[in-house]
Amino acid sequence: MTSTNGPTVKIDHVRYVITMSPERRIITDGAVVINGSDITQVGKSSDLDYITADTVIDGSGMVMTPGFVNGHMHVSYAHAVRGLFPDDLGAAYLPNVFQLQAAMTAADEYATSLLAITELLKYGTTTFLDPGTTTHLDVCLDAYRNAGCRIIVGRNVQDRPNPLNLPVHSTDDALAMTQAAISEYDGALDGMVSAWAMPFAAEYCSPELLSACCRAAAFANTRATLHFTNSPRWIEQCRQVHGCNPTEYLERCGALGPGMTLSHCLGIGDDEAGLIADRGAAAVMCPTAAVKGGAGMTHHGRLPELLAHGAAVGLGTDAGNNSNLLETLRSIYLAAVLYKDGRQDVSMVPAETALELGTITGAAALGLAHRIGSIEAGKAADLVLFDTRRAEWGSLHNPVNSLVYNADGRSVHTVLVNGRVRVQNHRPVFVDEAELVAEVQSRGENLLERTGVSFQPRWPVV
Ligand SMILES: [Zn+2]
Repeated sequence: MTSTNGPTVKIDHVRYVITMSPERRIITDGAVVINGSDITQVGKSSDLDYITADTVIDGSGMVMTPGFVNGHMHVSYAHAVRGLFPDDLGAAYLPNVFQLQAAMTAADEYATSLLAITELLKYGTTTFLDPGTTTHLDVCLDAYRNAGCRIIVGRNVQDRPNPLNLPVHSTDDALAMTQAAISEYDGALDGMVSAWAMPFAAEYCSPELLSACCRAAAFANTRATLHFTNSPRWIEQCRQVHGCNPTEYLERCGALGPGMTLSHCLGIGDDEAGLIADRGAAAVMCPTAAVKGGAGMTHHGRLPELLAHGAAVGLGTDAGNNSNLLETLRSIYLAAVLYKDGRQDVSMVPAETALELGTITGAAALGLAHRIGSIEAGKAADLVLFDTRRAEWGSLHNPVNSLVYNADGRSVHTVLVNGRVRVQNHRPVFVDEAELVAEVQSRGENLLERTGVSFQPRWPVV
């Protein structure tokens, strides 16, 4: 919902406002004025002194950023069994995930989704894309409503046998499911929910399904995403069977255009990075998941090359049982440091670029840069205030360097989404966090008991 007739909020005397505006202005002693859902003014506190508001929030001692954008984050299942899997599970990981997920009830999924969203919001992520793995979207809509987040959802579909225990639909059924999810959820909750086409991966979908999903998304004026992890096996199959690389294969299938966001985007060469940019497709890379999964991010993930070619690149964290963490700021940190190390070149992905990936460029990668990703008049008031009166922020001379390299989500003090305060003084205002954590713990234990899935810690637990 876009409204400038709601209650007014003024956040005053902010130590630094990192606007991410086109000029990338950083305002000291700044103020931001909100009317309803939208930012109406941004400037020096002294220049906006004459403006009064229904609510005034003291921003002194705070660094303000736009809400972070997480372009690939499975919100619905991992929290029930988080940390269960050993870190060397490898290819056995996903079949276990989907077995557990298939056994979850709607009530399980509501609770785990709400807990994931609570964690995301608490650490400054206000917009995220759930890549199609929520089963009970109708029930989870209540979690999105209660939390007041901005979310992109969809329905994973595939029409080819796969080793992941994912159900195989007919091509027609898979397309119908895609269209139903888009028509039911795109624009829901006054526009806070978007719905996209979400074929799972090119490997598990026919060319007909890939192209039909992309056409359905374009017809509905929305977008599509798929997992583009490109295992050596899939790259080899593309070469042998189709005589091309995975990116060229997507293009042949009619699935590489301005409405496509490629998740992970690993296993590509420089020429493929150029092709992705040329076709206007976007990429969302998940460094937190890549490093834990041993994916060789700096070698197989051509983030600097994608940026150099002009592609819109955003960041994700993947599932809370894959990377095991959801904090977009940690992906921002990794984007800033990984390539410096991997390429032994400190000019790789400067802190400023890394912050862009988590805000304005990340918003562009989801087709939302007109609405979010920067602190400017006319945009949605999705804002994060970091309390710099904490040890990790001292001493403060360059707020971008301090945010990217030495701060993390623990200092997030206040979060607004669409003009509404969602986190206040480090606490979510929409849920009893401790109660929810306890509920998800017992739901997780119950889920393991009824599925018989069990992994023991390596060390004796006595
Ligand atoms: Zn994923």
